[in-house]
Amino acid sequence: MEPSLAVVDRFQRPLRNLRLSVTDRCNLRCAYCMPERDYLWLPRSDILDFEEASALVDVFVDLGVDRVRLTGGEPLVRRNLAELVRLLAAKPAIRDLAMTTNGLLLAEKAKELRSAGLGRVTVSLDTLKPERFEALARSRDHRLVLAGIEEAAGLGFSALKIDSVIIRGVNEDEMVPLLDYGRRVGAEVRFIEYMDVGGATRWSPEKVVARAEILGTLARRYGPIHPLAEPGPAPAERFRLVDGTVFGVIASTTAPFCRSCDRSRLTADGLWYLCLYAARGTDLRQPLRAGASQQELRSLIEATWKGRSDRGAEERLALRDRSPLVARPALQQDPHLEMHTRGG
Ligand code: SAM
Repeated sequence: MEPSLAVVDRFQRPLRNLRLSVTDRCNLRCAYCMPERDYLWLPRSDILDFEEASALVDVFVDLGVDRVRLTGGEPLVRRNLAELVRLLAAKPAIRDLAMTTNGLLLAEKAKELRSAGLGRVTVSLDTLKPERFEALARSRDHRLVLAGIEEAAGLGFSALKIDSVIIRGVNEDEMVPLLDYGRRVGAEVRFIEYMDVGGATRWSPEKVVARAEILGTLARRYGPIHPLAEPGPAPAERFRLVDGTVFGVIASTTAPFCRSCDRSRLTADGLWYLCLYAARGTDLRQPLRAGASQQELRSLIEATWKGRSDRGAEERLALRDRSPLVARPALQQDPHLEMHTRGG
């Protein structure tokens, strides 16, 4: 679709980029995302099947979405995910079909996903140290994540990225090793500021390693860092080292990109969120299951996007005293407030 024909919100931001969460379940318990012992899960009967998800994606595509990213929870714990990839890859209007994964099951599944038509993969990897991984993510399977990255690196995905959330007192000493690792395996590393999203109940401002500090650390090790001039809605600002290595920084906490944000999120049970920080979503499952026509769904999505004025991360930045976005009792009552339900 011509950009000029895309549906735009109140700030002229187009509806382009859909993050499709396929499950709220995860096989890790990262301290910055799922620190609690118990969670309330979405009822299984509410989870969209692949035909339902695909039908909703058709409506989004019709309105201008051309980039879809599978996420979760952990997308690879959803059974037969390759079937959904096949359905989505068959839609020519989707120019970019990607997945964000924690990598635990990637070595096992990457080949099938690649053949099904998955274009790009981003793996979350915050540490190269197995004992640190165990403390941070409560899993002993760190080697599986590395195996997943290395398997994916050989399969010809159009891009392989590594996303690392940098947290003070946890892994801020690993930026250089992570970048070197990415370079070795042919993956572009992106350093993510710790965000005060729903679920991050242990967040505090002191734990955020800001963009400026990330760049300072890397410049001390690698020398001058050159920003790449890339206008557009991508969340990561990209930089180049003298030797040509490119990396990114996603500074959603200290330098949000709301102004150009074209992303929205569909949860595994069909609630549509216009912002990671939004308090409420629009229920698309209910009308879909009640038999709404494609045109009716289209009108609902179009009208909702046209009314969008969310600037969640910028509003958070403007707060004087910043603390976790949602308190534990509220999270325990409504899983939709969780990052692991909305997809990161
Ligand atoms: N399970 C998949 C994964 O690990 O990539 C996909 C879902 S996960 C919620 C998506 C991304 O959100 C991951 O890269 C994760 O590190 C990031 N994330 C979760 N909580 C975060 C937080 N509080 N601040 C910054 N990033 C966070």
